Amino acid sequence: MNAVTTPLLQVKGLKKHFPIRGGLLRRVVDHVHAVDGVSFELAAGETLGLVGESGCGKSTTGRCVLRLIEPTAGEVTFNGQNVTTAGKTALRALARDMQIIFQDPYASLNPRMTVSAIIGEALTIHKLAPNRQAYDDRIVELLETVGLSADHRRRYPHEFSGGQRQRIGIARALAVSPKLIVCDEAVSALDVSIQAQVINLLEDLQNQFGLTYIFIAHDLSVVEHISDRVAVMYLGRIVEIARAQDLYTQPRHPYTEALLSAVPIPDPAIRRQRIRLQGDVPSPIRPPPGCHFHTRCPIAQKGLCDVQRPELKTVGDGHQVSCHLRS
Ligand code: SF4
Repeated sequence: MNAVTTPLLQVKGLKKHFPIRGGLLRRVVDHVHAVDGVSFELAAGETLGLVGESGCGKSTTGRCVLRLIEPTAGEVTFNGQNVTTAGKTALRALARDMQIIFQDPYASLNPRMTVSAIIGEALTIHKLAPNRQAYDDRIVELLETVGLSADHRRRYPHEFSGGQRQRIGIARALAVSPKLIVCDEAVSALDVSIQAQVINLLEDLQNQFGLTYIFIAHDLSVVEHISDRVAVMYLGRIVEIARAQDLYTQPRHPYTEALLSAVPIPDPAIRRQRIRLQGDVPSPIRPPPGCHFHTRCPIAQKGLCDVQRPELKTVGDGHQVSCHLRS
């Protein structure tokens, strides 16, 4: 791979197994297999949508990439640097390049701090403002960049709407001029019209600053317009990854087909048959053997799908799917 095509982010075999403790001695009695061998790459300036039902491991994947939680196994490389083995100092430097925007902006913004203090915290930590004037100027610049005004900097989070609070969260992430932002269900809690405004803002910012996004959502329709590629996760594994257009027009995995069948199509002339999956997502404590999806898959084959784990195999240009029966 030459320098031009070297990905900004490489994730290989990422696993996160949370221990479950029990008994008087609080011994580890089991594990939640939240992320179970996830691999993907991301080019600079690209947006990868990471989609799946709640509990599929998408948020844990995002947090492991940033080392906000420690992965159990696997390797994350950012800009040629190994994130998984980085020490404290290197991690602090990496935190400037890799930021996160959370789902609930209200819970993630300290209610006792002014907007200026919230956004400026990272400026202080990373010594990015040499004096008070430079600090103030940068706060105003950041607020205007996300569509808020200079006056807003003296106010508190409760004085803002959900959409405005998410803009404050975005300004906070932008303060350190990151290269990669993990948007963890960043628009999921917002009304549909506000969702569109925030997604448009994120797209504008990407064009302006050359940002790279991992855009996490539980709904395929939310990530459709912002994503260059989409990865679908089920019970800790990526089951399909493809360019967004390919995934939406030619899904190959039965789980992706089922998710897509629930997405409304604006054109009334096109009808899609709704695929209703049987049962619930099995527990990630003891995921089913073989293909994790076999307990709900409408085309599962006994003796194959419940025994052998399907590898992620290439079925088209940049299109990979993890299914024994789809090629
Ligand atoms: Fe369904 Fe089998 Fe494919 Fe899994 S491997 S998605 S169970 S057909």
